[in-house]
Amino acid sequence: MAGTTPDLMEKIVSLCKRRGFIFPSSEIYGGFAAVYDFGPYGVELAKNIREAWWQAMVREHDNIVGLDSAIFMHPKVWEASGHVGGFSDPLAECRECHTRVRVDHLLEEAGVFADEKMSEEEINALFGENKDKIVCPKCGKKSFTDAKGFNLLVKSNLGNFTSDWTKEPTYLRGETCQGIYVNFKNVLDSSRVKVPFGIAQIGKAFRNEITARQFIFRKREFEQMEMQYFVRPETAATVYEEWRAKRFQYYLDLGLKPENLRWHEHENLVFYAKAAWDIEYRFPFGFKELEGIHNRSDYDLTQHTKFSGTDLSYRDPQTNEKYVPWIVETSVGVDRTFLAVMTDAYTEETVGENDTRIVLKFPKKLAPVQVAVFPLMKNKEELVGKARGIYEELRKSLRAEFDDNGNVGKRYRRQDEIGTPYCVTVDFDTIGLGEDTSLVDTVTIRDRDTMQQTRVKIADLKNYIGGSI
Ligand code: ATP
Repeated sequence: MAGTTPDLMEKIVSLCKRRGFIFPSSEIYGGFAAVYDFGPYGVELAKNIREAWWQAMVREHDNIVGLDSAIFMHPKVWEASGHVGGFSDPLAECRECHTRVRVDHLLEEAGVFADEKMSEEEINALFGENKDKIVCPKCGKKSFTDAKGFNLLVKSNLGNFTSDWTKEPTYLRGETCQGIYVNFKNVLDSSRVKVPFGIAQIGKAFRNEITARQFIFRKREFEQMEMQYFVRPETAATVYEEWRAKRFQYYLDLGLKPENLRWHEHENLVFYAKAAWDIEYRFPFGFKELEGIHNRSDYDLTQHTKFSGTDLSYRDPQTNEKYVPWIVETSVGVDRTFLAVMTDAYTEETVGENDTRIVLKFPKKLAPVQVAVFPLMKNKEELVGKARGIYEELRKSLRAEFDDNGNVGKRYRRQDEIGTPYCVTVDFDTIGLGEDTSLVDTVTIRDRDTMQQTRVKIADLKNYIGGSI
């Protein structure tokens, strides 16, 4: 496929496993499709990604507040949201563009009659027989998966034995935003926010994704960072454009390469949506959705008003006017950001004659380790003691690591592979056992990207490193 680098994907997957960023779930049992675990460095990177988003969305806005709603919600939420609707519909997914379409609709389009009373097996057989006629309504390709009676929501057997809804299945949430909608009134009544305002949330979501591939791009358990911005209906279009601009700039500020980002406008909008654009990133398998930005009209608050019987309209405190706010949503996955950051950072460089170094050129604020401290030699007590002292001081304000394994060259390579921007080495000059006594209490600091080494006073280290992160 044009624009794809499958080789790069393999290299990233392998590095993620080897260096403890991402492990396949339950690997000793043979893995568990489309579920992954973050390892020691992965968990740090994911944390920094969440932190960057929270900083930009909540801390740097006067009128956006945070929320952490539960993964379990009343089953009616998913009826109101429309997720439960097509529960028993047989669906097939286009292998090209991942559009999921009702099989009976596809057959109808192809001029094949499907009786409503057909079982899933019968309809699947019919679908199989006619596959050469089945065209994807979105991309026009003829490449569908088998049909499945399918719902994306993941069911649970959580029971509330005192309520009358025990017969209805409970779900693990399929998106975090529903928790925001159902708390709209709580936030309004308990904080000083006034329309326009936003509620932001980071949390897990679960989907029975049909296609379980492309590494952490499409997981069955993933994490979303969503912000719902409530506005006066007539301002929604303008506010939408403002958020589009802000969110694109966010990725540039995060340090992603501009040439790897682009816009994609949705042509087929869900019936209630007024506008939908994706920010796409050039993943190793091509440009794909990283973030969705949607103008959702008053759909969500209206639906929840209808299903819950609680009025979710807003009264303007100045004019006393009552209306249902419209929602502009920005929604991105932690995991997709992780993969974008990894892809952007992955670099192979030729060093010297025929040596290659793998280096993750992470933006410094996202790097799992910001500084590594080494004693030149492992078995020299004075060097080790001094290096540990420096490390223990730096780790109070920076993500630091102590490494005394192998020689310094090997340690540099190891730190390059996890994207550490700085390595500090304590040598004999540092501890006054070298030839140049003017170098006492100085160390070498090596830059990840230029590989250049500079001599810096220990007392100045924090500033030197901190100043550029
Ligand atoms: P796609 O079309 O790729 O399935 P979507 O349009 O269903 O995505 P949304 O429901 O709009 O996605 O979710 C918002 C964001 O959540 C996406 O832009 C993506 O970053 C993230 N996301 C959605 N589904 C997954 C998943 N299965 N694994 C990882 N991240 C996901």
